[in-house]
Amino acid sequence: MEFNLNKMIRPHLAGVKSYQTLRDSFLDKKVVFLDANENPFGEFNRYPDGDPIQLKMKLAEINQSKTENLFLGNGSDELIDLTMRIFCEPTKDSILIMDPSFVMYEIYAKMNNVKVEKLQLNSDFELKKDSFLNTISKSQAKVLFLCSPNNPTGNSIDDLEFYIQNFTGIVVVDEAYIEFSPEDSAVNLLSKYPNVIVLKTLSKAFGMAGLRIGVGFASPEIASLFIQLKPPYNISSESQRLALEQLQNLEELKNNISIILNEKENFRVGLETISSATKIFPSDANFFLIKFKDAELVYQKILKENILTSLRHPALKNCLRISVGTADENSKLLSALSQI
Ligand SMILES: *Cc1c(COP(=O)(O)O)cnc(C)c1O
Repeated sequence: MEFNLNKMIRPHLAGVKSYQTLRDSFLDKKVVFLDANENPFGEFNRYPDGDPIQLKMKLAEINQSKTENLFLGNGSDELIDLTMRIFCEPTKDSILIMDPSFVMYEIYAKMNNVKVEKLQLNSDFELKKDSFLNTISKSQAKVLFLCSPNNPTGNSIDDLEFYIQNFTGIVVVDEAYIEFSPEDSAVNLLSKYPNVIVLKTLSKAFGMAGLRIGVGFASPEIASLFIQLKPPYNISSESQRLALEQLQNLEELKNNISIILNEKENFRVGLETISSATKIFPSDANFFLIKFKDAELVYQKILKENILTSLRHPALKNCLRISVGTADENSKLLSALSQI
């Protein structure tokens, strides 16, 4: 079936003209800016670049993509929300998500009054082809959210392309943790599938959660849609500047990823010796999902040692999700765990 983007967009958005930032076409020229009611004084008096081209060029280079395929959000969270606002008609359309997966898909669906259908995973939290095909044969979902590596489980989807191939709506591949993983990015599949949106973020492996920058990759048509319908100045000028500065030291950022992956392996070896931890799920991310005999008890005991972990996903009984920290932080945690 031919993919038709115009049939995917919510009908009332088809002709919507977004806010035009007149300035973007004058940035290189010497122009007196009296167009945006700014204050002429102060260090941060000007609005930021609405479509941050320099940052996009750098991100395109790092991700072997092109600027025309790229769009930015105030965190990839904003792009998840925008995806629903662009494609899903409230009360009518639904999204399809893995269960369990990143909790924000469901929260944004609720906020947008969009229905949620769930894909069952097996007991190792793997997506299976037969169960997927069975679910989509009965599904009306307009957008499929695939998270790989998945949060909160940590595992990657095996043969991701199969699921993309078999879904006729929009497929969002959330790759918030891809830089920690040995798997290839789905950005490589964009030229083959016009219905795919890949989401990445500078929050996790790149260590810039405070700057709030999410990166979307898709066909130039989809990318333009997001750029047109996003809030006009969604990336602050300081975030743009600081992210570019950080990305100039790519080697250092990559080195930090290697350090985290090394620590992750040490952490895993340490966890194997903890008797109350009954299962450590395989992880391609910078965290582990761990099953305990009594997760609530473990959570409270390590909280008493001033270490906060995550016990939040309703689908995960007796599991904690624990991030890989520094060697020092990890050993503190292991010593707290060993006393339980
Ligand atoms: C952390 C996370 C995000 C959100 O990232 P931001 O860019 O900080 O908004 C998105 N998806 C998943 C799966 C995450 O774990």
